Amino acid sequence: MVSFAELSLTSFLADRLQQAGFTAPTPIQAAAIPLALEGRDLLAQAKTGSGKTLAFLIPLIERAVKENWKSAGHPSAQAGSSRSPRALVLAPTRELALQIEMELRKYAPPSVTSLAVYGGVPIDRHYRALRQAPMIVIGTPGRLLDVAGTRHLDLRGVEYVVMDEADQMLDRGFLRDIQRILQLLPAQRQTMLFSATFSPEILTLAESMLKNPARTSVDPGVNSPTKITHAYYVVPSEASRVQLIHTLLQASEAGDQSMVFCDQKYKVKRLAARLGGEPASVGAITGNHSQAQRERTLTAFRSGRLRSLVATDVAARGLDVPSVSQVIHYELPGNPTSYVHRAGRTGRAERSGATLLILSPQEEHEYLAMVRRLRIQTKRLALP
Ligand code: ADP
Ligand code: MG
Repeated sequence: MVSFAELSLTSFLADRLQQAGFTAPTPIQAAAIPLALEGRDLLAQAKTGSGKTLAFLIPLIERAVKENWKSAGHPSAQAGSSRSPRALVLAPTRELALQIEMELRKYAPPSVTSLAVYGGVPIDRHYRALRQAPMIVIGTPGRLLDVAGTRHLDLRGVEYVVMDEADQMLDRGFLRDIQRILQLLPAQRQTMLFSATFSPEILTLAESMLKNPARTSVDPGVNSPTKITHAYYVVPSEASRVQLIHTLLQASEAGDQSMVFCDQKYKVKRLAARLGGEPASVGAITGNHSQAQRERTLTAFRSGRLRSLVATDVAARGLDVPSVSQVIHYELPGNPTSYVHRAGRTGRAERSGATLLILSPQEEHEYLAMVRRLRIQTKRLALP
């Protein structure tokens, strides 16, 4: 498939894709969309920034429009018709759930209704919104379970399930919640799993949840988009880490944005405070911030009002801010998967981007072993 035209999409969606300037599907979209439209269960792997969101949203929107889904919340709905959503999308973080819903709203006609359900906001807000019986619910597991345990959300009519960042959803932190959610769904359904990374163990677990899944892996062995460069500095002390990050942020070109990842909340707080001085253009996101603060900060970052965002791994997965041109790791990330996803916040949709690590002399050896395993090229830079 070389153009979206070959898919003969419904007109609203086709128009919106054209308005976005997207003529050709990305490789994962070309591979996954036809399979998803055929009704196949799917295990789809493709690098960060390669368009996985639309790879699952396009088939959902097509289904909703072609099958003329009706909302039970609509005044004309028949009494007793199911108020259950038809599709459920699961995501690991609140910001990602919101982003997926924003993306859906960009491409779906208003008749295809949706709701993002996630923690950190009053649950009443979701109860009220669920009275409209949205057709597509996008949520984080914890809040979804809270809501599904009440009369406000019935999941028995769900026909399509998507897990974005599926390897994280099936990892220790979420697995039990996911298993409980799957138990609330009908056995007869289509399930689609997407991620840039799947470990062999998670792949086996994932396959056990799917029926005769089609497996699509775009560019197997490519762990990080080729247009992302990787480089590192070795610094003698903690104080020089902060100084170096300050210099790197200052040196970045106008219009470019940066994300800085730390492995601990207190480090994010401390670093943001030290960097925030002059142009107050540095924001911070961790699990300690209130949800309202998190959303405000991310909105300011997306709009360009904030030039830099310091964050924990809560912002490492899925977030799509196309003008992020550099990702700085405050220290060696705890594991290769985290490294790949953090780095993947830049180099979106074939743009170029830079990943920079700040390492202590002790971390260098471990880092080099990590990139070797990932088959990524890196180089040591001289301190500025
Ligand atoms: P992933 O989930 O694979 O990390 P996203 O779905 O977030 O990637 O998409 C990354 C970027 O690519 C987004 O800014 C999106 O708008 C853009 N994009 C998606 N599909 C296309 C396409 N067919 N052509 C060009 N850009 C696209
Ligand atoms: Mg994604």
